[in-house]
Amino acid sequence: MPLHQTTAFILRTYPFSEAHKICVLLTRSTGLIRGVAHGARKMKSRFGASLEPFTEVSLTYHEKEGQELVRISTCEIVQSHFHHASKTENAAALSYFTELLCEFSPAHEANEKLYRLVIATMEAMAKNSQLDSLLRYFEVWLLKISGFFPDLNKCISCNSEIALSSGVWLSPDGTPQCYGCSGGRGVTISSELKRSFEAILRNNPTIFAEQDKPVEHLSAIGDIAYRLIRRIVERDLRSYDLMNQLQAETKLI
Ligand SMILES: [Zn+2]
Repeated sequence: MPLHQTTAFILRTYPFSEAHKICVLLTRSTGLIRGVAHGARKMKSRFGASLEPFTEVSLTYHEKEGQELVRISTCEIVQSHFHHASKTENAAALSYFTELLCEFSPAHEANEKLYRLVIATMEAMAKNSQLDSLLRYFEVWLLKISGFFPDLNKCISCNSEIALSSGVWLSPDGTPQCYGCSGGRGVTISSELKRSFEAILRNNPTIFAEQDKPVEHLSAIGDIAYRLIRRIVERDLRSYDLMNQLQAETKLI
């Protein structure tokens, strides 16, 4: 059984028999993996608090050929982010991130950019960055890294460059078109809104969250990103609905 060593984020854990846990992890060197942490449910577990969601850990594990579940050998905390989850709205955002990562990360395939996105998002959350901005940042970059984010500067139909000062129209399948080719049909992305998308793609999440931007841009980016996400995963994400319900209730209080 070969031994692997990498850093990883804990995404989810499930009880597995009376004494063990199954962990879903986003590793730096092999992408998404599932593994068994033996004895993790016991009172005096050697895993301690290292298996809490979004804790970054230094991990060693054994892999057996032909088996999907790896055997987690050691797991030591590099950086704990679990305390963010004490705020209900952060906890809801973290479960949304988890669901997105589980949908978009192919198993056993390293993706350095995706791993760095999680690090940067956690750092921004630790600085109490505005949550709506972080959510939109994460969605857009996840789509971009996975190759699903449309180039807003080029019309797919006539292959022409779309000027910075012009809007762009997205067809229902997310294809960007100029005004002429779209006939004004589809989701309109104004030149100003295009700039807010650019701000996400050019900055780290902490800086993007600090920048002034119209509130309606954030909700428009959220609608467009989720429309693309929903089309790709072909279903609604449970955590997304719960998060929005929670936000709506918080606003009513
Ligand atoms: Zn065109």
